[in-house]
Amino acid sequence: MRSTMQDVPLSLGRVREYGTTVHADSEVVTATVDGTRTASYAEVGRRATRLANALRSLGVTGDERVGTFMWNNQEHLEAYLAVPSMGAVLHTINIRLFPEQVTYVVNHAEDRVVIVDASLVVPFAAILPTFETVTHVLVAGPETAQTDLAPLEASGVTVLRYEDVLEDADETFDWPAVDERDAAAMCYTSGTTGNPKGVVYSHRSAYLHSMAVAMGDNAGLGPASRVLPVVPMFHANAWGLPYAAMLVGARLVMPDRWLQAEPLVRLIEQTRPTHAGGVPTIFNDLLSYVDEHPCDLSSLEIVLCGGSAVPLSLQRALWERHGVRIQQAWGMTETSPVATSGKPPAGLDDEEAWPYRATQGRALGGVEARIVGDDGAPLPHDGESVGELEVRGPWITGSYYRDADPEKFHDGWLRTGDVGRIDPLGFITLTDRAKDVIKSGGEWISSVDLENALMAHPDVLEAAVVGIPDERWQERPLATVVLREGAEVDAATLRAFLSDTVAKWQLPDAWAFIEAVPRTSVGKFDKKVLRRQYADGQLE
Ligand code: ADP
Repeated sequence: MRSTMQDVPLSLGRVREYGTTVHADSEVVTATVDGTRTASYAEVGRRATRLANALRSLGVTGDERVGTFMWNNQEHLEAYLAVPSMGAVLHTINIRLFPEQVTYVVNHAEDRVVIVDASLVVPFAAILPTFETVTHVLVAGPETAQTDLAPLEASGVTVLRYEDVLEDADETFDWPAVDERDAAAMCYTSGTTGNPKGVVYSHRSAYLHSMAVAMGDNAGLGPASRVLPVVPMFHANAWGLPYAAMLVGARLVMPDRWLQAEPLVRLIEQTRPTHAGGVPTIFNDLLSYVDEHPCDLSSLEIVLCGGSAVPLSLQRALWERHGVRIQQAWGMTETSPVATSGKPPAGLDDEEAWPYRATQGRALGGVEARIVGDDGAPLPHDGESVGELEVRGPWITGSYYRDADPEKFHDGWLRTGDVGRIDPLGFITLTDRAKDVIKSGGEWISSVDLENALMAHPDVLEAAVVGIPDERWQERPLATVVLREGAEVDAATLRAFLSDTVAKWQLPDAWAFIEAVPRTSVGKFDKKVLRRQYADGQLE
């Protein structure tokens, strides 16, 4: 029997129309050099319509790609709304990729127009001549008028000011009907090995993902929420927070390029967000800052944190010293990105809940998760069996854009490359990325467990653990440690500290005290660099 329900496509055009009319009075606030600027969703909607007209008049048709090279700000939100709604495909370019990777992704996606923030014109101009398909560049943001556009014009590409093209454009647009399975947006993985891989989101996947992001077991957003996505809109869709906010009428607070602890704290005090989202590094820096400079973070109800494992010590410190509650989430570019979230089961007191907060959480409604052994067979969810995590669901990719990589898929499931266990309640604990696991004498050592244990020491700011070659054991753990300013703790003391919680055979034998842990383009520990640096087992 067929249902009696109307068949209305789930589209980002609907999200735009709904958010900018039903929640017309809600607002997006963007940080500026000397304060903030504010626009209502109605105004953002009108400007998005003008942007769609402008892009059409520049020749963008069908499913052509429009790139963005932008921070989190109002204009980026306008592009998020205009481009998919007009049937084109929004390609958010990760501004932190190496220049040759940006060239690769722009040419691979065949971007036609790129919108770039005025504050990013200089790095963008250096790579613009390498783009093969870009015909127009739009320069956006309040500083555009004072920005020298000559370096861009030198490339021969037509360069226009975003505000000029918007001013000349109409405020009505004949929005096309889209098929919900068509492409709406795309994002490339950060390509830690080989070229970045393109993931193409459909209208349907983005719509369902946005709803799931807003749900109570994840962010729990509503019209009274004020959401601060510190996580970039240029990588993995700022975790779906912009569309989720539009769907429930939550206000958005955009930090633009001011992502350091001090301006972030100022923005939080001034705009009083209820929700924020970002990687652990951001909140680690924030913690160090607020420990030294007392400030008011009391507006924050939930801080979503993920992208890499969130140390329990960081969560406890923020909660116990500043009343800020972190909720861990897990995902990948390939999973839109949010696939699991760590709200503890109901009815637990705080102490009972902590072990659950340390996990990557449970799959969101709509996502299935399992772990498989080396032979590909599913393992029990008994909280003990360890295997590779595989996921599937309506916002999980089933392939890469023009890049066959069958190794990443298994019987309709995405192989995540993450290793861990799932308990009977469905809570997932990741112990490592498959390529970071340390294999010592036939046993596995979790680098993440060691890092978490080390970061619980009050003198340790950050710690990254990698396996280094060892003749007898094949690999042994090397701990690289960044100490807090003024701290003087040595390796023997840290080893003794670890031995309270870590089995003796897992204790790192090699130690390096370093200034900073090398990072990838999205701010994660770059263990590849560390492994290369210490490959010969020689410490500095
Ligand atoms: P890339 O673009 O390099 O694939 P992503 O930004 O998509 O990077 O990152 C995905 C990976 O990040 C996951 O496979 C996982 O290893 C890691 N990750 C994300 N969230 C968490 C988390 N909460 N805990 C541990 N690892 C995480």
